[in-house]
Amino acid sequence: MSLRLRLTMLYSLFMGGILLVFGVVVFFLINVILLNQVDTMLANVVHDITKVMRVNAVGELNLISLPPLDMASNAYVQVWGQDGKLVTASPSISALTEPLDADALKTGKTLYHDSWVYAVHLRVLTVPLIVGTHKIGTLQVGTSLTVVDASQRALLSVMMVVAIVAVALAAIGSWALLGRATDSLEVITNAVDQINHADDLSRRIPSSGRRNDEIGNLVESVNQTLERLESLFTSQQRFLADVSHELRTPLTVIKGNVDLIRRMKQADEESLTSIDQEAGRLSRLVGGLLMLAQAESGKLALNFAPVELDLLLTEVFTEMQVLAKNKVTLHLNDIDQVIVNGDRDRLKQVLLNLVANAIQYTPQGGEVFLGLAKIGEQVRLTVRDTGPGIPAEDLPHIFDRFYRAEKSRTRSAFSGFGLGLSIVQWIVEHHGGQLKVESKVGKGSTFAIWLALLR
Ligand code: ADP
Repeated sequence: MSLRLRLTMLYSLFMGGILLVFGVVVFFLINVILLNQVDTMLANVVHDITKVMRVNAVGELNLISLPPLDMASNAYVQVWGQDGKLVTASPSISALTEPLDADALKTGKTLYHDSWVYAVHLRVLTVPLIVGTHKIGTLQVGTSLTVVDASQRALLSVMMVVAIVAVALAAIGSWALLGRATDSLEVITNAVDQINHADDLSRRIPSSGRRNDEIGNLVESVNQTLERLESLFTSQQRFLADVSHELRTPLTVIKGNVDLIRRMKQADEESLTSIDQEAGRLSRLVGGLLMLAQAESGKLALNFAPVELDLLLTEVFTEMQVLAKNKVTLHLNDIDQVIVNGDRDRLKQVLLNLVANAIQYTPQGGEVFLGLAKIGEQVRLTVRDTGPGIPAEDLPHIFDRFYRAEKSRTRSAFSGFGLGLSIVQWIVEHHGGQLKVESKVGKGSTFAIWLALLR
């Protein structure tokens, strides 16, 4: 069953229920009010009659005459003696020999009661006539309830018609209104279906003229999801393209060299070196990719422990002298003794990456400075070089995977794949730290890592 039909039925049932309760209450209320009026009229008539009643010396009823009854009251009167005989009755029912209300007459109590006499519905007030402690007879005053019954029937029919019309209108109205809402849902479903079938994540659900309501919010949320999916999908595609590109070049070089060796029937040193270098690049690329994949899937666990950063920096400084030798001068200055909470191996990897970049991109004769300072509750590690600097338009992207600032993408045996800084950033962020870079083209670059001081 469709949502539209279900909700329409629910609304109609609800409306019907409310009208039913309302109708029952109104019906009984009006019934009570009408009967109350009739009862008051009967009580007045009884009052008028008892005023003109006398009792003779023997104790018998002596009704001088029935008072002229109000014509509108339309009341019938019977006076019954103790012997069960009719003493007197109003002219309109003088031929009637039965009591207006036989049941009430037997009880001998003051009683308002409904009764039927020859298929006429009556309301009868029965009153015992008592002199002193002695009961001398019973007075019954009745009136026809035909008008009251007719009013009730009319009220019932009107209420039934109103209820049916109201429920029908509620059903039609909610069906129409819900139609508008479900139409919007259908538009969304169709749009999402089209996106699925066409495999086109760049499509969006049209939100033209949509109100600021739940449906409008849904459209916006779905469009935002599509936006995100599209960007993830594009970045995945770009990533695959980049990986393939990076893999293809070294493989082509290796294959070319192997072909050469095969044709020459001897392995020359140059080919072997080239194969060796390219294989080295490949394994570095695969290593970097593996690490990024582990990092992104949350499988790269960091083993936190207190790390003496000054010792770690000195260690890196010593190791990197080999790489810097004959090319740039490495300086280690201004180091404070600091301890941070971190994964020593990963922090070392960060430093090695930054220093390797500085050495690699700084031309012959340049300088690289390593620094470590305690600033308030924080630690700042810096790697500054006097290299070419990074153009402002490249700065926001150097932490992206496979991004390399040098336009020509010239490759040397030592040039990277643009993965190093992505890994560095991941590690620093997962240490709760910040990685900042300042660079001026022609002057050099400074990479700074801010971490929380342990002591
Ligand atoms: P790569 O493996 O290419 O070095 P990285 O992610 O480490 O990749 O660096 C991304 C890019 O940022 C580099 O290709 C280079 O253009 C630029 N870069 C990084 N460090 C420096 C630096 N010290 N001086 C100048 N450019 C740098």
